[in-house]
Amino acid sequence: MIPTYVFGWPSGKETGMYLAVDLGGTNLRVCLVKLEGGGKFEITQAKYRLSEEQKQEDGQRLFDFCAECLKAFIDSHQESGLIPKDEVLPLGFTFSYPCSQERIDHGVLIRWTKGFGAPNTEGHDVVEMFRKALAKNSVPAKVVALTCDTTGTLIASHYVNPKTRIACIFGTGCNAAYMERVRDIPKIAELGIDPDTEMAINCEWGAFDSFEHENLPRTKYDQIIDETSNKPGEQAFEKLISGRYLGEILRLIICELIDEGVLFLGQNTYKIEIPYSLDTAFLSLMESDPTDELLMIIGIFSHFFALETTLAERQFFRALAKLVARRAARLSACGIAAIVSKMGYLEEGCAVGADGSLYNKYPKFADRIHEGLQDIFGEKGKNIVTYHAEDGSGIGSAIVAAMTKERKDANIYPNY
Ligand code: ADP
Ligand code: MG
Repeated sequence: MIPTYVFGWPSGKETGMYLAVDLGGTNLRVCLVKLEGGGKFEITQAKYRLSEEQKQEDGQRLFDFCAECLKAFIDSHQESGLIPKDEVLPLGFTFSYPCSQERIDHGVLIRWTKGFGAPNTEGHDVVEMFRKALAKNSVPAKVVALTCDTTGTLIASHYVNPKTRIACIFGTGCNAAYMERVRDIPKIAELGIDPDTEMAINCEWGAFDSFEHENLPRTKYDQIIDETSNKPGEQAFEKLISGRYLGEILRLIICELIDEGVLFLGQNTYKIEIPYSLDTAFLSLMESDPTDELLMIIGIFSHFFALETTLAERQFFRALAKLVARRAARLSACGIAAIVSKMGYLEEGCAVGADGSLYNKYPKFADRIHEGLQDIFGEKGKNIVTYHAEDGSGIGSAIVAAMTKERKDANIYPNY
């Protein structure tokens, strides 16, 4: 549970031009956001794919890459006239890995997650590293706030829908954020912040049940994922839920059946035996196959894995995909229910802004969360409704930057 130094909700009146850089688990995104107030905004963006090598090379190199992409983006939009020349724009940096913050423009990486392992980064202030990269490349941008995608989603969702109380991410990783009263945040009791003030909390719930694994049952497939990951023991909750792992869970089940001689006898199975070769997006496709013959599943297995399947096998794979994805959604409902209970949101109800490819693209993922909430809370569970949050890590980051600028200009907790 990480205090974010995002003080309270946005007013909806935030305005101005901001840059946002989002170092997600799968992509790097740079955005120019024009906040127009009244919950309105305009966004221009560019996306860059991160390679597996980049995730493992020296950390400074990774931030240099972010700065280089940002520089190219700014250059091209200065030419097009969208960004004024000779202006240093404020920037919100969305860095969605657990960071311990002492103030909003600072964050020491606690640990890499989602398969990243870049050396010389854990234990370092990532804002400092990013600033160094910006300076090296003479990028006309000033980092004013560091946030994670989840906190950004909380703020962006509230900007457009003030009933929002909670935000969740279901992408490469998973996480949640909510707004807490400062008097209920023991970690920052010493700072002398007014106890009635509110501050967003980044739950980092992907780390729930890590190491001891005391709370949640795990299958042998979950254990293999954990033990063969670059961070055994860590991110236990996330490994049961997020997009990085769901495909791999299904692949491990299939591989076990291959080893037992039950599946694909006489066929060459080397392709499906490559770790992480079955993307979670395939599970989405398998579940959404509308044909009786399951033609989509035929296509996936023949095209990507050079395997022929029988109808019974395809029905079985689809049922497995459903089990894996439904468990992920229902565990997520437990997390949401925990926040709802803690904050007493059940009676009044609340909206939960959710983002990430798993939430946005996996068929019925939201329905299954809602089904889980009703199993937990009964009829009243219907008061808790998730919805697709419009871009937390770009817009949200910009709004957080705007809120921070306003707060500091008003001399409210300027050192935080
Ligand atoms: P990031 O985590 O970088 O912000 P996303 O929110 O796009 O990025 O999440 C990427 C994850 O979503 C990957 O693990 C990928 O396997 C998964 N994914 C991508 N497309 C789909 C899809 N159609 N259905 C389900 N999962 C998907
Ligand atoms: Mg993301």
